Amino acid sequence: MREGQMYRTVLFTISLFCLATLCTNSPLVLSAAAQTCGGEGVVVQVLGSGGPELQDKRASSSYLVWQDGESRVLVDAGGGSALRFGESGANMSQLDVILFTHFHVDHSSDFPALMFSSWFEERARPLPVYGPVGNSEFPSTVDFVGALFNSRTGIYRYLSVLLVAEENGGYEVQPHNVIGDPSSLVFRSEHLSAYAARVVHGSVPALAWRVEIGGKSIVFSGDTNGEGTGLVQLAKDADIFIAHNAVPEGATGVERRLHMPPSVIGQIAEEAQVKRLVLSHRMLRTLGKEEQTLSEIRKNFSGPVTFANDLDCFPVQ
Ligand SMILES: [Zn+2]
Repeated sequence: MREGQMYRTVLFTISLFCLATLCTNSPLVLSAAAQTCGGEGVVVQVLGSGGPELQDKRASSSYLVWQDGESRVLVDAGGGSALRFGESGANMSQLDVILFTHFHVDHSSDFPALMFSSWFEERARPLPVYGPVGNSEFPSTVDFVGALFNSRTGIYRYLSVLLVAEENGGYEVQPHNVIGDPSSLVFRSEHLSAYAARVVHGSVPALAWRVEIGGKSIVFSGDTNGEGTGLVQLAKDADIFIAHNAVPEGATGVERRLHMPPSVIGQIAEEAQVKRLVLSHRMLRTLGKEEQTLSEIRKNFSGPVTFANDLDCFPVQ
C-alpha cells in the first residue's frame, strides 16, 4: 500500500469514528469561526494579523488572494495560519503560487502543515514557491524547502513524494530564490503576475510582494524598517497596501532596525499613492495604540486605513 493511500485510509477511519461519537469538529462548530471570501472579483483575506507573540491571540503573518471564489496566492505561512486557511474555506489545489517574505518563524512555520494537508487533496500540477535568497543566518528559499522535504536529509523526508511528480499522485514543489527588483517580473500564471522588492529587515533577507490579478494590484510590505526606495516603487498606485504595524511611533534600537513606525508607513503609502492601507502584523506593543498609530499615519496619508483582524476580507475595488 502506498503511504498516501495509508493516510487516506486512516483519515477515513477517523471520519467513521467521528460519525459514531459526535465529534466536536462538525461543520456546524467550524462555521462559527469561518469566514470565506468566496464570490466575484478579487479579494484579499488576512489569515494571520498578528506577530510572533502568542498572547496577541492572532495567527502569525499570512494572506490569501482570492479571485472569483478560488484561492490563487498564499503570502507567508506563520504559526496558526494553517488553521485559518482551513477556516477560510481555501484549497491548496487552487493555489497558483506561494510567496514568502522571509523565513522568520512567524512567517513560515505552518508551511509543512499546509503541505501535508494538500496531500489529501487532488493536486496534479506543480506548486511554485518563491522567497528570498539566503545568507549566513537564514536559508534561501530553495534551502528552506529542501531542509524540510529533501528525500534523504529533510526533516519531513517522509513527504518527499511531494517534491517529485509521481505516477500515482504527488506533485512537484518548485522553490525559487528571488533577489527582489521591483521592475522585474518574478512569476506569471494564466491568472496573475507577481513582483518583488528587496526590503530592509535588520540582517534578514526579506522581500515585499506585489500581486497583479484581474486588473487589480495588492502589495504586501512584509516585515521591513522602511529604508530604501524599493517598497515605494513596488507599491506605486496599488489598490491595497498591506503594511506591518509591528512597532509604535518612537521605537528605537533593534525594534526600529527591524520595523517601520506608523509615520514611515504613512510616508510610504503617500509617496506610492496607494488607494487603501491595511495594517497587519499587529503586536502587543501596537495593539491598543490604534489612535496614536492612525494620527501618525494621518500626518502623511489621507486615504482609507483599516486595522486588520484574522480572516478579514478586503474586496479590491
Ligand atoms: Zn514578523
